[in-house]
Amino acid sequence: MDESIDSVDVNLESKHEHIAIIGGGLVGLSVALSLLHCNQKTPTRLKQIVLIDPVHPTQIAANSIKSKTVAISYGSRIIYESLNFWHTIHHLAEPIKSVQVSIQNSCATTTLLASQSHVPALGYVIPDSDLIMALWRHLEADECFIMKQAELESIVFSGSQSTLKILENNKTLHLTADLVILANGNNTAFHKKLGFIPTCKSYKQTALVASLKHQYPHMGCAFEHFTPDGPIALLPCQSNTQTSSSLVWVMSTDQAGKKKQASDVQFLEQIPKQFTNQLGHFTQVEARQTFPVILSTHSEPVRPGLLLMGNADNTLHPVAGQSYNLALRHAMTLVSVLSQASSQYALGHLYHLNAYRNQQRMDTMRTIFFTDQLVKQAASTKKRSSRLLFSLGLFAAHHVPCLNHMISHYGMGLVGYGE
Ligand SMILES: Cc1cc2nc3c(=O)[nH]c(=O)nc-3n(C[C@H](O)[C@H](O)[C@H](O)COP(=O)(O)OP(=O)(O)OC[C@H]3O[C@@H](n4cnc5c(N)ncnc54)[C@H](O)[C@@H]3O)c2cc1C
Repeated sequence: MDESIDSVDVNLESKHEHIAIIGGGLVGLSVALSLLHCNQKTPTRLKQIVLIDPVHPTQIAANSIKSKTVAISYGSRIIYESLNFWHTIHHLAEPIKSVQVSIQNSCATTTLLASQSHVPALGYVIPDSDLIMALWRHLEADECFIMKQAELESIVFSGSQSTLKILENNKTLHLTADLVILANGNNTAFHKKLGFIPTCKSYKQTALVASLKHQYPHMGCAFEHFTPDGPIALLPCQSNTQTSSSLVWVMSTDQAGKKKQASDVQFLEQIPKQFTNQLGHFTQVEARQTFPVILSTHSEPVRPGLLLMGNADNTLHPVAGQSYNLALRHAMTLVSVLSQASSQYALGHLYHLNAYRNQQRMDTMRTIFFTDQLVKQAASTKKRSSRLLFSLGLFAAHHVPCLNHMISHYGMGLVGYGE
């Protein structure tokens, strides 16, 4: 760690926290939620928590356009229920009753049904901004200590705790913490300074996100259509008429730039006709936004006193909507390990962090592998033979109930947590 805290500002304050969470995005807020909930049940060494973000939560939510939604799995709903949080968001979340999967230039399709898996929904769609605001309000009501306009500048670890240099309203504060959780997004440069070297892969793709209006109600149906240029997902959104869906269209960066600039009419004409049977014509497009698509992972996301979570740890392709769901499972695993942590070791000791790491490793590896393979399979459908193979897979998933059930089970996030 080459960061230094030599230059101390005049306005210096000192405070000690058990856990400092850096980043108030979806993951930082969710980690804070699970830690606070754990404390309410049994007072632990995880009592004093601070959450730090340079952007005010209302601003984070405002910056996050309404068309950017997150599909939370049924497994995540179960986690929210256990955290006593689901009741605060269920009215904002549109249930996914079915998922229709198809491939370009192939008649093979399969449909995953919530009813076949005996669950009320395979997952739920909620705008990022609504989820962020709900999490934040919940934390404020629980009196979580949130530094809303504060930025972590540097960290120095010594002995059993870290010293954080934080800039808040032009004031420099020094804070010490037993454990620092970096949930500050995919800030590779910052992480490298702390000795975390990511393995990165660019898919040379961009995700174009938009809000679409269509002729017929979606009836809770989500679509995943694979093309050689990238997958297209349509997620059902909440509205009285059920005629609005959120589009995540992954394609080459060049194409995405052009589609973002195209007129509304041109854009709507370019959407594959695949969805017309169920949704009718697309009548309106709003809030087009693009996101780079990369795979960034860390083989060792822990250092003494430090831990990466969320996008800071793994940034995945959005094809299967897994990243946030995976991070939520990680948060639960971490809280379970730390709440039972022996007082023989400091909270940020590698003894505890490696125990967490070992418990989440399989789930992480499997999720990364599954997501990456899906992208590769989709890209390979340019070739007729690969398309045939993928089509056969869909055909089997459609006709073999246990295979269909297995895929649904995986998509619902019911494989992995608690292993
Ligand atoms: C198009 C698209 C669709 C997706 N769909 C899904 C889906 O359906 N399901 C799913 O599970 N996942 C999905 N994802 C992934 C999901 O959006 C991410 O997993 C999630 O947003 C990551 O949140 P995060 O909190 O880790 O990072 P971020 O959202 O990047 O938040 C990081 C926070 O850290 C703060 N920060 C940065 N530096 C500092 C600092 N120095 N000090 C203090 N704070 C700092 C930032 O201000 C920010 O608020 C999708 C992603 C994309 C791009």
